[in-house]
Amino acid sequence: MKKEIDLQVIYIEEGADLDAFSSAFGLTLINPDAKIIKPHALSPTVRLTINRFSEILKDKLLTKKDLKDQKIKKLYVVDTSNLKKILKLLDKNLDYGTEIVVYDHHPPKKLSGFNIKYNILKTGSATTIIVKELQKLKIEVKPEEATLLILGIYEDTGSFTYNITTPEDLKAAAFLLEKGAKLETIKTILERRIDEKQINIVQQLIENIQYFPVKNKKIIISVAYSKEYIPDISAHLHLIKPFQEVDAFFAIINASGKISIIGRSKSKEINVGKILSYLGGGGHYSAGSAMIKGMTTQEIKSYLENILIGEFYRDQKISNIMYRNVIKVKKSEKLKNITEIIKKVPVIFVINDEGKFEGIAITKVLRESLRHGVGDISIENFVIDNVVTFEEKMPVAEAEKYLINSSQDYFPVLKKGYPVGIVSRTYLLKVIHGQVFDFEKDIFITRERIKPKFLNYTERLRSQIPKDIYEELVKIGKLAKKLNFRAYLVGGIVRDIVMKRKNLDIDIIIEGDAIELCKKYAEEYNYKFHYFEEFMTAQIITDKGLKIDFATARKEIYEYPGAYPKVKKASLREDLYRRDFTINTLSIEITEDNFGTLIDYFNGLRDIKDKVIRILHQLSFIEDPVRILRAVRFAGRFGFKIGKLTERLLRLSVDEKLLLAAPTGRINSELTYIFNEDRATEIIALMNKYKILHQLIPEFVFDDKREEILNRLRDMIVTFEIFFKHKVDRVSNYLLSLMYHLPLEISYQILERYHFSNGKELFKKFFEIKYKFTKIPEKNSELYEMIKNIGKDLLVFLTSYLPVDVSERIIYILRKEEERKLLISGNDLKELGLKPSPEFRKILDEIFLKYIDGEIKNRKEALEYLKNKYKFKN
Ligand code: ATP
Ligand code: MG
Repeated sequence: MKKEIDLQVIYIEEGADLDAFSSAFGLTLINPDAKIIKPHALSPTVRLTINRFSEILKDKLLTKKDLKDQKIKKLYVVDTSNLKKILKLLDKNLDYGTEIVVYDHHPPKKLSGFNIKYNILKTGSATTIIVKELQKLKIEVKPEEATLLILGIYEDTGSFTYNITTPEDLKAAAFLLEKGAKLETIKTILERRIDEKQINIVQQLIENIQYFPVKNKKIIISVAYSKEYIPDISAHLHLIKPFQEVDAFFAIINASGKISIIGRSKSKEINVGKILSYLGGGGHYSAGSAMIKGMTTQEIKSYLENILIGEFYRDQKISNIMYRNVIKVKKSEKLKNITEIIKKVPVIFVINDEGKFEGIAITKVLRESLRHGVGDISIENFVIDNVVTFEEKMPVAEAEKYLINSSQDYFPVLKKGYPVGIVSRTYLLKVIHGQVFDFEKDIFITRERIKPKFLNYTERLRSQIPKDIYEELVKIGKLAKKLNFRAYLVGGIVRDIVMKRKNLDIDIIIEGDAIELCKKYAEEYNYKFHYFEEFMTAQIITDKGLKIDFATARKEIYEYPGAYPKVKKASLREDLYRRDFTINTLSIEITEDNFGTLIDYFNGLRDIKDKVIRILHQLSFIEDPVRILRAVRFAGRFGFKIGKLTERLLRLSVDEKLLLAAPTGRINSELTYIFNEDRATEIIALMNKYKILHQLIPEFVFDDKREEILNRLRDMIVTFEIFFKHKVDRVSNYLLSLMYHLPLEISYQILERYHFSNGKELFKKFFEIKYKFTKIPEKNSELYEMIKNIGKDLLVFLTSYLPVDVSERIIYILRKEEERKLLISGNDLKELGLKPSPEFRKILDEIFLKYIDGEIKNRKEALEYLKNKYKFKN
């Protein structure tokens, strides 16, 4: 570890020029122990130089990764514009002992509080300063080394033509020439700055400039096309004058479908790194990039524009994004008088006589109530008045807080107590996260142009589905054909057929009209059926009690921000496109004329084969954050990994706390599914990995203890279900294993928030008895006394929670208790001549206690013991 103590490094900035690099190299001649930290971003000439001089640069370069947390003993900083920033970046690596040496030809701002030595000389290049030092110290310079050094001087002085050039620069160059520096190398490196292909791209970028004003900022988006990938374009973008003049620009370069985007920004308010991270790229606010396949340039352009609009909205007031045309109804109004109005909107505002806001009413509830014939009741009876409301002047960004803390779907907007508008949760989320987009077009689609695959699955279907279901599918297919519809088996069941797993959830999508088909189907075979007009879904229950779900292929359309999504008929493909992951988008056609054809629109088959969970488009998690939980559930259940881009977007969505804004009821059902999965423990580990649990549970830690408890809990659930025939309340047990560290009141709050109030009982009991187990008695009989009145569910947790030896004893006792009747029974006592009495119980207990303590080993000994003890009583 001696190396760590002696670490000496030379630091140059990201994207540093050749002068900085040559200077850094010169320093390695002065101090051979010092290494250059290679920036991630290389200017083109530096890149060329590193390639050309790889031989003499060997062992002189380190990457930022190599640094890690190691302390630097001596730090050289060369030719920097912002010393303070560098020291901040290296914060972890510096301490009071670090010696810092600065070389520069522009006087930097001096900093106090550090041990810094400044070597400043006003020369044309920084390399000149280093060369002077080499001369002074009489250090030998070889021809190759001289060439590398002279490059820096040439570049920074514009081959001695810039005004800043000093006699010192020429002297230094003269010295290097004497040492054998080769002038032709200078020519090849410095003059290959921009080649023809790059010029072509730059030209296109100039021609295609489009200004895109948002806020008070000017932004350029421009595109260029080429056959092949052309490196180093980014270094030339600053040559484009209009690019220099705007606050930010995005250059989109499409090389035969492989698209790179380069973004630069001068304004902190336009964070190009973040904007490009939504496209799978990254960077910081001032510079970012992304590489994308499978989207067109136009799509990327509109995506960028939409994000920028979103960024713009963030600073807007709520009044600028709300929907104004809201419906207000006086609270005294009778329900029957507003039957038409409530068909149109999801919520209405209830006002008093002065027109002031009293609350909202959910029209779904009103419609439902009307159906039950309560039209004479006044609206007053349906008012929900404890809703979160916004003031119209509130900034959009501030509204985010409310989103997270409430599960409301719609937020009324008020002005001095009068209702003036409404915004929906989904719309607000999209605005805040920069995605205002057209639902109808769904334009940011990476999987849009995948060619669909068709496979013959007739045999698989026949062999893998129970016969009675198969026969129904055939019947449905025949009927669909007759009605001129198309019918498809979709969802989890198709995925599971492909994976050869069992699944009996039958979901069918009809291109056409599901309700009409079900009506006919039910009529023809005399099956029961019910339907939901609004959602275009129906369910059949066959004479054998088999349930089959139907839905018309549909998509959801938002007519205006905050509107109720309208369900519209659509193609199968559009319907599948709304789904969560590619593996869930497979379908098998069952229409008679194409029965058994598997259709794969979005590469679901490939992803099953590769064992990976992938979303269908970039906005998936934003559209529905519950998918975060579903992603880990499927990954854990199948042992799949989460795709790279999907993982990145998942993490981003967790960071953005989107889950906290999801409806708590849906979180409840997903968690319930998760805890009931066989591989719940693995899923929980994933939830930990992605910091999902940390969001749902305050002060969550996944320490060794919890990990052990979870692993044991998995085993205990099996033990109790198999050996003790007890249906374990897995949900409560897992919840407890995740929250036993919290004070009871806090756990209660979380349980209530996510509608797990049933679980409180187990928590309460655990906290009541847990202190008793700080001291464990030696004798099994005494341990039995402690546990005999504890319910099985709590025992499941206790045996996972207590030390292993104690829980093994508890399990031993419980198993003996199971066999208790075999040992000795009331009948045995009767046979021995004892009269049935309450005494019986006591005697039996006594025998059992001796049995678990090992004092009585079997039935024979038990009977003997009884005879000895009770013989003279009779
Ligand atoms: P399981 O085996 O757990 O039942 P499943 O895939 O059938 O898995 P379900 O929850 O039954 O999952 O949902 C049925 C189908 O509906 C899924 O295959 C999925 O395509 C779709 N789906 C469910 N939830 C979502 C969601 N949040 N977003 C998009 N699609 C969803
Ligand atoms: Mg299912």
